[in-house]
Amino acid sequence: MTTQRKVFINTENMATFVCPECMKSKTTNVSKYKNIDRAVRVKCNCDCGHTYSVMLERRKYYRKETNLPGVYKSKRLGRGKLVIRDISRFGLKFDITSGRYPMIEDVLVVEFTLDDSHKSFISKEVVVKKVYESTIGAEFITVDSSSDSDRRIGFYLMP
Ligand SMILES: [Zn+2]
Repeated sequence: MTTQRKVFINTENMATFVCPECMKSKTTNVSKYKNIDRAVRVKCNCDCGHTYSVMLERRKYYRKETNLPGVYKSKRLGRGKLVIRDISRFGLKFDITSGRYPMIEDVLVVEFTLDDSHKSFISKEVVVKKVYESTIGAEFITVDSSSDSDRRIGFYLMP
């Protein structure tokens, strides 16, 4: 199966498509897709003549505020403790409470237990995207609805 590139709809209902052939980017109004609740496949025609398809998704799903203790592990930094501050389908915000601080583009494994009725254990590989003192913003490296952790997060985020 070929991996589809994901493109996200921003809060202004615009999305940026990058042609995989010539790398030219094009930002388009996609407000006709603004109410989608799952990814849709969209065909794009680039000025260079190349046609490609991407999965278009709304980024602004639900971001749930949390206060969940957990740990992180990384080859470079070793282990440390953290508190998950919010969770979305695409990533996490957390505070490092002990251990070394990561840098942008560090890859970590983050593990914690949800406060749902099953006390679901979550283990996700993330890449650090924002660092502000001890507060870290990180994106999941993969989002796959067949993975246990992603399914549990999906249920957890249901309003
Ligand atoms: Zn192109």
